[in-house]
Amino acid sequence: MSKKHGKHLPGHSQDGSVTDGPDRHQAARARAPSTAVWAGAADAIAGTVPAALGSHRQIPILAAPGIVAVEPGTRIDLSAVDADADGGLDKLWAKDALGQERERISALQERLYAERARSLLLVFQAIDTGGKDGTIRAVLKGVNPQGCTVSSFKVPSSDELDHDFLWRYHAKTPGRGMIGVFNRSHYEDVLVVRVKGLVPDAVWQGRYRLINDFERLLTESGTVVIKFFLHISKDEQKKRLEARIADPEKHWKFDPADLVERKSWDAYQQAFSDALSQCSSPHAPWLVVPANHKWFRNYVIARTIADTLEAMDPRFPKAAKGIADLKVPD
Ligand code: ADP
Repeated sequence: MSKKHGKHLPGHSQDGSVTDGPDRHQAARARAPSTAVWAGAADAIAGTVPAALGSHRQIPILAAPGIVAVEPGTRIDLSAVDADADGGLDKLWAKDALGQERERISALQERLYAERARSLLLVFQAIDTGGKDGTIRAVLKGVNPQGCTVSSFKVPSSDELDHDFLWRYHAKTPGRGMIGVFNRSHYEDVLVVRVKGLVPDAVWQGRYRLINDFERLLTESGTVVIKFFLHISKDEQKKRLEARIADPEKHWKFDPADLVERKSWDAYQQAFSDALSQCSSPHAPWLVVPANHKWFRNYVIARTIADTLEAMDPRFPKAAKGIADLKVPD
């Protein structure tokens, strides 16, 4: 893959070989990537996909080392994943590396936007105080706002409740050329809805299959889906809630209802474990991100996005013939 598609970190080459410096994450590169498939056929008929893209149908979701990708068909036990993990990385190094990953994302986004053939959907889920807002701010800083939409999903409106549960999410999926960000997502309908008993058990249980079908529809229509679960420990949540109470500038973030929700910690962990296990598919795998350390979380997520975008290999459309010879009239 050409280096002009983005800057690489020292020691990190796209074919997995070691380059000019140590890559502390190199070892985990050997893991077989998950694949997302996009169907170019319908797009080719519409004539909107550059012919060169025909060979780029298998899109690997390249989880950065330190992230735990849930193997499709297996069960993830979240209590066995160390939320405190930092991959042995140095904090200052990771902050600098984050800046480089952001530059890669920004350069690749320009190509994705110009190509206008496919899209990228980033899904963020976490328990309260898990860091969704902070991650989105840190990782997507520098992205052209015209090429990005962020959708936050709250308690559904009565109009939304009058439709099937996926309706409001489908309406916000990114169009061609766009990066879409879901701050909470269709997974709320098997998480909070389950924990609070908002629908009968049989209803939320049937949703795993519908979610898998929905994500297959998206990926086969040209949307690459990366799903991040920000995994924090119960102690870390306590610290973050206390920090919000102690700091007047953070009061706006504090909702007394969070204290009530905290009592359901175990029920939420169970619901997350089930959702991640039931809905990790080869085309849209779940990625569990150790998230107690914000700097580690931000770096590995940014790198995953940059690497996956690079694997998509978005290309500028071919220029019209003879454009270089054109003269702009005085
Ligand atoms: P956030 O915590 O994401 O910053 P809010 O504090 O406004 O934003 O919380 C949004 C609330 O909406 C959460 O309590 C979440 O559980 C709830 N919510 C989101 N989706 C649904 C849903 N489908 N059904 C019920 N509640 C939902």
